[in-house]
Amino acid sequence: MILVVPIGDVDTRTVEAVSRFVGSYYSRLGLPARVSDPIPAEWFSDAYNPSRNQFIGRVFLETLGGIKAKTGARAVLGITSLDLYEKGLNFIFGLAHPGMGAAIISTFRLRPEFYGEETTGNLLIERAVKEAMHELGHIFGLGHCPNRWCVMHFSNSILDTDVKGPYYCTSCELKLKKNWG
Ligand SMILES: [Zn+2]
Ligand SMILES: [Zn+2]
Repeated sequence: MILVVPIGDVDTRTVEAVSRFVGSYYSRLGLPARVSDPIPAEWFSDAYNPSRNQFIGRVFLETLGGIKAKTGARAVLGITSLDLYEKGLNFIFGLAHPGMGAAIISTFRLRPEFYGEETTGNLLIERAVKEAMHELGHIFGLGHCPNRWCVMHFSNSILDTDVKGPYYCTSCELKLKKNWG
């Protein structure tokens, strides 16, 4: 099972849509997805860096890894609206730790309004689905892919996210299935 964990105040429609999408993909590999009860953002006050007004991603992974161990999920994917960063990077859309079976994505820089775009339509959901599939790919052993239409392509900016599709390319999917066996 893939457990999708909402963290703090995060858009429910997005969380449900991400769970539905990754569930429909991964259930073909025997892994359905479900959404857990939300966990409070206050659990991650240690991750806050006041000089950047951002949260360091790795702190979330430890807690999510603990939830994985407790629930027996195969993978845990956190979704937060907090702005995340990692050392050496101005920001991150998401982060995964394959060893812990845990990943997190942030909707902060996926929101159309962050870029002055119109908020109508499903742009936030489409972007969140791509970042979720990307981080889950890392959990299941995939690296970054040179194919810019593959969901495992690295997103330097939201433009990269918008160019790529929500699926693994043929080569990444083959690797994924091999890792499975
Ligand atoms: Zn990546
Ligand atoms: Zn690929």
